[in-house]
Amino acid sequence: MEKLDLLYEGKAKKVYATNEPDVLIVDYKDDATAFNGLKKGTIVGKGVINNRMTNHVFKMFEKEGIPTHYIEELSDRETAVKKVEIVPLEVIIRNVAAGSFSKKLGIEEGRVLACPTLEFSYKNDDLGDPFINKYYALALELATEEEIEKITKMAFRINEIMVDFFKKADIQLVDFKIEFGRYKGDIILADEVSPDTCRLWDINTHAKLDKDRFRRDMGGVEDAYQEVFRRLGL
Ligand code: ADP
Ligand code: UDP
Repeated sequence: MEKLDLLYEGKAKKVYATNEPDVLIVDYKDDATAFNGLKKGTIVGKGVINNRMTNHVFKMFEKEGIPTHYIEELSDRETAVKKVEIVPLEVIIRNVAAGSFSKKLGIEEGRVLACPTLEFSYKNDDLGDPFINKYYALALELATEEEIEKITKMAFRINEIMVDFFKKADIQLVDFKIEFGRYKGDIILADEVSPDTCRLWDINTHAKLDKDRFRRDMGGVEDAYQEVFRRLGL
């Protein structure tokens, strides 16, 4: 496979065209941003970890019958993926109160929710990815009812698989964000699953092992990413 033009440079990844029209190459960077790009920095080694971790969990999802964009890991930082039309919804699943949920609802971080929740944000950087619901998504034609149903089912199933997976590494999966895409008439999981997009806490001490260390200037950011990498045996 041949890597061709850079199509898009995002905050965390570069996306390249290839000689195959349905295939892209994503290249994971060490760049980190938070608060919609207001805070910028570097997390050394993050690109390698996020690439490996995403591919590992996507392969696991495929085994469980959840279709993903994963094709092949090409190098430490590069992966061939199916080119999708991204559904402009950030799908957030929460098992434990944290972040914007805690702030908005006045609930202490760390409270285990009675059941997992799902919410949508409209994927739009200019607007800061505002919170929306299913009815907004339908009214704005961001996705069809059938697509939203599929996305919802897949997201909760992904949560079940991930909760178990992280538990084995003594990690509590607090919450995470995923994105889906349209591919040949179907909905498949796209983008990434990494410590950039998940809240991961040590199951015993509740130490943060994710991007919140960067967002909140807690230090030990690289060590936290490496710790997740090591515990998952990647
Ligand atoms: P951002 O755009 O938020 O800065 P990234 O730096 O991660 O994020 O850029 C990667 C971009 O590629 C994202 O906009 C994401 O939605 C998109 N993307 C992820 N997977 C695919 C795919 N399989 N096909 C097309 N686009 C994808
Ligand atoms: N998240 C993400 N990208 C975003 C917004 C959120 O990956 O643009 C992830 C974030 O890492 C966390 C979950 O989604 O795991 C829920 O984030 P929250 O809504 O609490 O927002 P935050 O507190 O990060 O602003």
